[in-house]
Amino acid sequence: MSAYDFDLFVIGGGSGGVRAARLAAGLGKRVAIAEEYRFGGTCVIRGCVPKKLLVYASQYPEHFEDAEGYGWHVGERSFSWPELIAAKDKEIDRLEGLYRKGLENAGAEILESRAEIIGPHRLRLNASGQEVTAEKILIAVGGAPNPHPEMPGSELCISSNEAFHLDELPKSIAITGGGYIAVEFANIFNGLGVETTLIYRGPEILRGFDMDMRTNLREAMEKKGIRVVCHDTILDVAQAADGRLKAETRQGHVFNVDKVMMALGRLPNTKSLGLESVGVQTDAKGAIEVDQYSRTNVDYIYALGDVTDRVQLTPVAIHEAMCFIETEYKNNPTTPDHDLIATAVFSQPEIGTVGLPEDVAAERYTELEVYLAKFRPMKATLSGRDERTVMKLIVNAADRKVVGAHILGHEAGEMAQLIGVALKGGCTKDDFDRTMAVHPTASEELVTMYNPTYRVKNGERV
Ligand SMILES: Cc1cc2nc3c(=O)[nH]c(=O)nc-3n(C[C@H](O)[C@H](O)[C@H](O)COP(=O)(O)OP(=O)(O)OC[C@H]3O[C@@H](n4cnc5c(N)ncnc54)[C@H](O)[C@@H]3O)c2cc1C
Repeated sequence: MSAYDFDLFVIGGGSGGVRAARLAAGLGKRVAIAEEYRFGGTCVIRGCVPKKLLVYASQYPEHFEDAEGYGWHVGERSFSWPELIAAKDKEIDRLEGLYRKGLENAGAEILESRAEIIGPHRLRLNASGQEVTAEKILIAVGGAPNPHPEMPGSELCISSNEAFHLDELPKSIAITGGGYIAVEFANIFNGLGVETTLIYRGPEILRGFDMDMRTNLREAMEKKGIRVVCHDTILDVAQAADGRLKAETRQGHVFNVDKVMMALGRLPNTKSLGLESVGVQTDAKGAIEVDQYSRTNVDYIYALGDVTDRVQLTPVAIHEAMCFIETEYKNNPTTPDHDLIATAVFSQPEIGTVGLPEDVAAERYTELEVYLAKFRPMKATLSGRDERTVMKLIVNAADRKVVGAHILGHEAGEMAQLIGVALKGGCTKDDFDRTMAVHPTASEELVTMYNPTYRVKNGERV
């Protein structure tokens, strides 16, 4: 019997923490998991899941319009934001229950409290003041929206957290940020009929994604009525006499809107966690520094998920948790594999992507073949909707390996999951060419682009 209260103490009941706690408890370890807010963490409570539900809700107006082209005449429509939020909350409650049940069934002790490290192997539960000890501590506390308190009027703004619980749908919103959360919410609000402006300081939205996806998505969003303002940033937000907000930008724009949403990055939840009491190293942003086995510089403390600022995605946090269990409790040292992570932006249309964007591939490889198709999806023929699907494959000419696949269009996220398997398996363009098409689909384009659209040699398009 160990001298500690627990074999493993997990701080944070989100994607990574819950998976690690459940697996360790299932192996017979004495596990406690502390959560200060709600089990399920960011993804389930105020991230991926509620976001996707709002995305679905926001797509209905286009479905109703498109139906006309197919002979359907949809009658009078009305939308209730409170009903949507209540339905969404019910589903989130259900999922939270499943997370708790999974932990209970595995035998983990659930602690509804903030936990802080107060000394070697020692933690305090803030709810009760109780102190406990653990042989190993796993920090999976995730992150939170950066509130930018230095910006005048930041306290008047909302973040993604509040966007899920607004009392009423605003008539107008300005969203500042150009990452996927800002872009997704701009599409959600616009789809629900909110006058939406997206303000981003960079030259194009979605830094880090392939440029053809970025520009084509921005154009599609503008066509739907979203005002996208690049090269600009909000400097000041003030309460106006009419109860609305007045947001002033660096370029001198003034936006009078009901809500201002800030989506300017996330900060790791490491403040007041007691890391300094045991000397856990963090970087300048406060993210916990770990080695390839998610070990911190303190030999019994581990960290994974968003708090380590490696790749901030739910499947990555879960994968890191599974690698931690293999390494620490199954005598099978396993390092997380962060290569070729397929991912999606749930914009409208969606982006699905895996592998390298063209500009990064061009730096890495001497010669690329680029296959690019832009076409009107079949559904848009009868509906008459003016939209385009874009598909792009990037191939290393030397060995014919497909090193990047990027899709903008309906269900691009679903396609990215499958094409991710092909890239992970090291498929070449020849493998794509000898794969029979599924007809009629949009994705058949991925296996029927026989000739390169252009080549890139030594970084230059030829
Ligand atoms: C709006 C939004 C949309 C997103 N959409 C997607 C998506 O579509 N796909 C995707 O893959 N990822 C998405 N993400 C990212 C995803 O949610 C995160 O990558 C994932 O949740 C990280 O898991 P984690 O376990 O590291 O942390 P989290 O899930 O954030 O869990 C950390 C938990 O720790 C708790 N906690 C913090 N400090 C303490 C403490 N001291 N004591 C006790 N508990 C504490 C927190 O309350 C939280 O519940 C989205 C994120 C946001 C914000």
